[in-house]
Amino acid sequence: MIVCPGNTLLREVVLNEDVRKLLKVQELDKEVVRLAEEIEKMQKKVEEKEAEVRMQKDNIEALHKEIGELLEDKKFKDELLNESVENLKKLEKKAKSVTTEKQLNAINTEIEISRTNQDILEEKLLSIMGTIEEKEKAVKEMETSLDTAQRELDALKKATTENINQINGDINEIEERKKILYKDIDAKIIKRYEELNRWTKGTSVVPVRQGACYGCFMKITPQTLATVKETDEVVFCPNCGRILYWPEEDEKK
Ligand SMILES: [Zn+2]
Repeated sequence: MIVCPGNTLLREVVLNEDVRKLLKVQELDKEVVRLAEEIEKMQKKVEEKEAEVRMQKDNIEALHKEIGELLEDKKFKDELLNESVENLKKLEKKAKSVTTEKQLNAINTEIEISRTNQDILEEKLLSIMGTIEEKEKAVKEMETSLDTAQRELDALKKATTENINQINGDINEIEERKKILYKDIDAKIIKRYEELNRWTKGTSVVPVRQGACYGCFMKITPQTLATVKETDEVVFCPNCGRILYWPEEDEKK
């Protein structure tokens, strides 16, 4: 009879059935997390587009307000100009009826002031009209851009809703598969797994690699190591509490 001293170490690794199923559950859970993140990303894109549209609307509104104020100013200056024109007519008429040179000089000075005022007003009105024209052109361009952005947003919303519905369908399907796996797993182990899942982010069931828990990376004692490797008991990491298993050959890195 040949006795092999390393016999126990050569024994095939027996993975606990609950742990084997939990590994499948964990993969499903990771997929759900990934899908949920995908939904979040899509929703974020919609929010960004909505913010862009809102900003464009605000800018257009602000510009309309500025144009309104300029039109008010224009109206006021138009009235001033009309008054000034009437006043000048009166002065010119009066100039014809004065008798003394002194009176004529006084009226001529008034006429000159009135003409200067008119020139200034006309110049200002031209400048205001130019500004209004520029702003109206800008509004038109912005409205075209808003129209495009709004159409893009509508299309994005429609596509996102469709995608999210599809993903939610996938998630429901995964949850069903999980339920089926859960039926055959010890309830206490499930409870522990779900407690772990609150903080492990998909690393509740981890392999032992180089003598350490692959979740918290703490070395485990040779005794625990032997239990993981040589028995089919469910073993928890003494440091972090994760469920440990011995990886099969093709899983080792
Ligand atoms: Zn650990």
